[in-house]
Amino acid sequence: MATPKILIIEDEAKIREVLRAYLVREGYTVEDCGDGEKGLKKFHELEPDLLILDLMLPGIPGEKVAAAVRQEGDTPILMLTAKSEEWERLRGFDLGADDYVAKPFSPKEVVARVKAILKRTGKGLPDDRPVIEFPGLAIDPVSREVRVNGAEAQLTATEFDILYELAGQPGRVFRRTQLASLVLGYDHDAYDR
Ligand code: CA
Repeated sequence: MATPKILIIEDEAKIREVLRAYLVREGYTVEDCGDGEKGLKKFHELEPDLLILDLMLPGIPGEKVAAAVRQEGDTPILMLTAKSEEWERLRGFDLGADDYVAKPFSPKEVVARVKAILKRTGKGLPDDRPVIEFPGLAIDPVSREVRVNGAEAQLTATEFDILYELAGQPGRVFRRTQLASLVLGYDHDAYDR
């Protein structure tokens, strides 16, 4: 299976770099671009399996890029928005985006969404992390499902990641900051207890 290709169109260089680093580490082929017009050009060259698209872009705004991409096919789009209300408002315009994350987000959250979308569209990487099983508990990193005595537990993406890290090393004591950097991928000073 070919490595899935991802294009990031985002004008904030720092966000581009962090996302690129995380996605490359996961094994994806990643290209990025800082504005809408060049981004569309790159989209045509690369023919990515998924597009990560910032809504507020210089030049052509994100919603126009999304509309152009949508006219040409069904490449999945993960939208980056400044706030979730913005997404709710824009959803009314039917941009054709598959999912969104509101800023500020953790790179791990974006990676989780990317994996979920690519899995849905049949373009996912094989996840080589094992299912962790204990009596009455199964944690599947591929489907991101947790089953407690056979019933699915509803967890947020971050809760899932914390559980997976803890369950993978039973008996180990983690510092709060260690967990935050393992799960969120960065040092988080104001981490909620
Ligand atoms: Ca922006």
